[in-house]
Amino acid sequence: ESVVNRIAAGEVIQRPVSAVKELVENSLDASSTSINIVVKDGGLKLIQVSDDGHGIRYEDLPILCERHTTSKLSKYEDLQSIKSMGFRGEALASMTYVGHVTVTTITKGQLHGYRVSYRDGVMEHEPKACAAVKGTQIMIENLFYNMIARRKTLQNSADDYTKIVDLLSRFAIHHINVGFSCRKHGAARADVHSVATSSRLDAIRSVYGVSVARNLIKIEASDNDPSSSVFQMDGFISNANYVAKKITMVLFINDRLVDCAALKRAIEIVYAATLPKASKPFIYMSILLPPEHVDVNVHPTKREVSLLNQEVIIEKLQSVVESKLRNSNE
Ligand code: ADP
Ligand code: MG
Repeated sequence: ESVVNRIAAGEVIQRPVSAVKELVENSLDASSTSINIVVKDGGLKLIQVSDDGHGIRYEDLPILCERHTTSKLSKYEDLQSIKSMGFRGEALASMTYVGHVTVTTITKGQLHGYRVSYRDGVMEHEPKACAAVKGTQIMIENLFYNMIARRKTLQNSADDYTKIVDLLSRFAIHHINVGFSCRKHGAARADVHSVATSSRLDAIRSVYGVSVARNLIKIEASDNDPSSSVFQMDGFISNANYVAKKITMVLFINDRLVDCAALKRAIEIVYAATLPKASKPFIYMSILLPPEHVDVNVHPTKREVSLLNQEVIIEKLQSVVESKLRNSNE
């Protein structure tokens, strides 16, 4: 049974960056305002995510890492929104089958916190009382210690750390009311550092740099015609002066980080046609849609989504981007 669980878990947590994504989403779901990540050896030795969220209650600790255990069902009535928000209650459980998980947490009003470790879906010992400030810290050590082949293919740790930094940069410019940091274990400098702000442009400036932020144009679009499309979009796109070798497309749909290849391609086409001499663009878009209009691949590692009325929405976004680019270039 343990081998089956391990293989299933290895599907949910494919690389260190998948573990980071799940942990950070849990911290966001816990209403954190500050999320700090430390990574050692590209995440294979250590992934540590500390937040200042609402914490985990003592009585929830024994089943925290059981599969399909989630505290989020009551908040989201129907299966559709559970699927689209990614609440499945299997991320933490999966991590315990392929790594060593230690949770330190304190809930509001408590004098001390608790620390507990998990293996293969179960608590290793009774929770131990410990000092804690606020929120939750989750440590994943020795990820894939029991999956030798996987560990070998991931040894190129620089590559996974890059993926983690890229992921957190994206989270940081969307969730601007949350401060993020990410650093290598022992490093003095953080590779992602953002403070909570109310200005998206400030967040982009601190994460992607001045040279990106000063070359952005604000965009907005919406439609509310049930017979064609219902959506609301706001974001930033790069102008003719922006310089980059490859496209950066940061896409959030209903506050979840996703990919949409068709949309990305469509925007690239607009840039090529409107600003033929410009470099590859930077695009940040946040789209809100009725949840039942988003078809999320249920598989937790797949970020690709498709939308109801996708063609209509893409065309509308293309025309907004095109007119903004034309105006800015006059
Ligand atoms: P899901 O997020 O789908 O509910 P997870 O396996 O990711 O499932 O997490 C299991 C449960 O652990 C969550 O439902 C939540 O109650 C709790 N939890 C995990 N991380 C945190 C955190 N950082 N702060 C508060 N609660 C957390
Ligand atoms: Mg989760």
